[in-house]
Amino acid sequence: MSDASTLCQACGLCCDGSLFSRAPLRPDEPAPPLATISTTVYGARYLTQPCSALGPSGCGCYAQRPLACRGFECLLLTALTADEVSLPEALAVVDRVKSQSGPERAESLRFHFGRR
Ligand code: SF4
Ligand code: SF4
Repeated sequence: MSDASTLCQACGLCCDGSLFSRAPLRPDEPAPPLATISTTVYGARYLTQPCSALGPSGCGCYAQRPLACRGFECLLLTALTADEVSLPEALAVVDRVKSQSGPERAESLRFHFGRR
């Protein structure tokens, strides 16, 4: 498994509702296994977060995850792929953020993951 996959499978903060409330599916995109699909009044499909495909070991349909999931790269993942941070350092950031709550967690999500 690549360092990026290892980080993302240990993280899941862009799947559990910490960063987003939903992940869009393209009109012609098949529904991934395990994920619960919802539809807007205009017919657009999306995965509600926390995503039902997210389990204790990360995304349960990682190899078949939607394009929106594949395409998203948070600040921490960008730093990892640019060798600005090591995998152990990135995993430590994830652990720290998951242990936080309230304003401290919100600030960490903005600083490390780019949450808006
Ligand atoms: S928030 Fe970043 S590191 Fe975490 S799973 Fe999403 S892309 Fe990967
Ligand atoms: S399908 Fe997988 S990668 Fe996409 S939001 Fe759900 S758990 Fe995350």
